[in-house]
Formats: sequence, C-alpha cells, structure tokens
Amino acid sequence: MVGRLMGKNAIVTGAAGGIGLETSILFAREGANVLMADISAEALEKGLMKVHQLSPHIQNKILSTVCDVSKESDVQAMVEKVDVWGGVDIMFNNAGIMHADDADAIDTADKIWDLTHNINVKGVWYGSKHAVLSLRRNKKTKGSIINTASVVALVGSATPQLAYTASKGAVLAMTRELAIVHAREGYRFNALCPAPLNTPLLQDWLGDDQAKRHRREVHFPTGRFGEAVEQAQAVLFLASDESSFVNGTDFVVDGGMTKAYVTPE
Ligand code: NAD
Repeated sequence: MVGRLMGKNAIVTGAAGGIGLETSILFAREGANVLMADISAEALEKGLMKVHQLSPHIQNKILSTVCDVSKESDVQAMVEKVDVWGGVDIMFNNAGIMHADDADAIDTADKIWDLTHNINVKGVWYGSKHAVLSLRRNKKTKGSIINTASVVALVGSATPQLAYTASKGAVLAMTRELAIVHAREGYRFNALCPAPLNTPLLQDWLGDDQAKRHRREVHFPTGRFGEAVEQAQAVLFLASDESSFVNGTDFVVDGGMTKAYVTPE
C-alpha cells in the first residue's frame, strides 16, 4: 500500500469524537501508524473498532490510549508510547470542550473558564511541547503539528461562549509562535479553524432548538454546517509532506463563512 502518510507515526487527541475519529480513519487509510487518544475509554473503544472495521486490511498499527490532555503526565506518557514506533511525526492536538455553562463576561463562572482553558489551551501546549521533545529525542528533521482552534478565534459571535472563544484565540496565537520558533528544526505548526459542524460537540448542545440552529446556519454561504470529514481532509493535507511549505497558518475550513457579508437566501 502506498499512502500519503506511509511510514509516519501519528497521534490524534479527541480521537473518539467527530473530527478526531474521521482524521484517525483517514490517517490509517493513508498508511500512518495511529495512536488514538481520548479521555473517554468507552468512546475510544468504539472509535478504535470503527477504524479497524473500515480498514480491515491495513498493515499499519492502530492503537488507542486513554489520556486527559489537561494533565501533563498523561500527555507525556501518551507521546512516549510512540517511541517504540520510532517517535512521533504527526501530532494532532484536537481534543477540546465547549461547556454548556460557558456564557458571556458576566455569567461565565471561574470554574468553567479554568476547565475550558485547562483542556483547550494547556492541552494544546502540553501536546506541542511533548511532540517537540519526541521529535528531538528521535532526531527527526521534520514534523507536523496541527492544533484545532476555531473560527470564533477569527470572527466575533453574538452567541457568547467567552471562555471557549478566548481559549481558541490562545490556540491560534500559540500555534503561530511555535511555528516560528521551531521552523529551522523542520517542525511545522498549523492551526485548523473549523466552522460550526455536525458533530456531538455542537449538535448535542443545539438539540431540537430550530431557532438556535437557524441563528447559525444563516451565516453559511453554503446554507449548511460543515462535516467532520471535511475537516479531516484538511488535517490530512497539513499532516502530509504535500504541505511542506505551509507553516504558521490559520487554516480555515468554513465553507466561506468567515468571508461572507450577506449570504444567499
Ligand atoms: P467532539 O465533542 O465530537 O470530540 C471531542 C473529543 O475530545 C471527545 O471525544 C471528547 O471525549 C474528547 N475530550 C474532551 N476532553 C478531553 C480531554 N481532557 N482529554 C482528551 N480528550 C478529551 O468535538 P469535535 O467537534 O470533533 O471537536 C474537536 C475539536 O474541534 C475541538 O477542539 C473543538 O473545540 C473544535 N471545533 C469544533 C467545532 C464544532 O462545531 N464541532 C467548531 C470549531 C472547532
């Protein structure tokens, strides 16, 4: 089998969820050894089974590990697991939460702010840090780290989730600086900026509330939310050597949403 990620070792966090699972599937199909990581053991087991079912004939290694990305010791242990494969080449720091009690400047509780930032920001920092340590330890001359931000890091929203928005702004800024600091080592860092998607993170929260749903859908030139697999295709490009000169970008995958003023009726 010849794949776009043949011979590469990849870690995906939040691998049991929408974007993470679709990315794990594509990475596996494209020849990477994949370590799928998530805080939910149960969801992870289902996700791992799905990857194996969809790609029954692949020879590459697909494993899973439970990891809470807000705990550095967990992240370190996760990254060190890949040393037996020769060290990480691709790190997708994708795990993130959007808490139901996240609100505006007045109503967001300290504990919601801290929880969100511990996972969304510190998780990406720890993942980036241990990816760099692994790349150096294993004497790699190139590596690709992709950090999931969001379009809310780029455009303001009148439906506030202040802790989430601030956390994604931090991911964007942090990724940009990491890209510049590590460029001469051959380690690329790019931030993925997805628009609202058809994944549990948003859809569970929207539920059957048609008004809430319409409030968001109307801003899409395409008239629809994005799909997780459409993000995964972008991540695959950023992970592969095809994007060798793409570094420090805010890689926006949003169906044109952030470029729209008035959308078609
Ligand atoms: P999802 O909820 O389907 O998946 C997120 C996964 O992260 C889940 O499997 C969850 O168990 C895991 N997770 C949560 N906390 C964790 C922790 N502490 N350690 C490890 N894993 C943890 O969500 P998704 O839509 O696939 O989101 C993935 C990323 O994309 C997130 O960072 C999210 O903020 C971002 N994003 C999502 C949307 C959207 O509309 N869905 C839009 C923009 C950005």
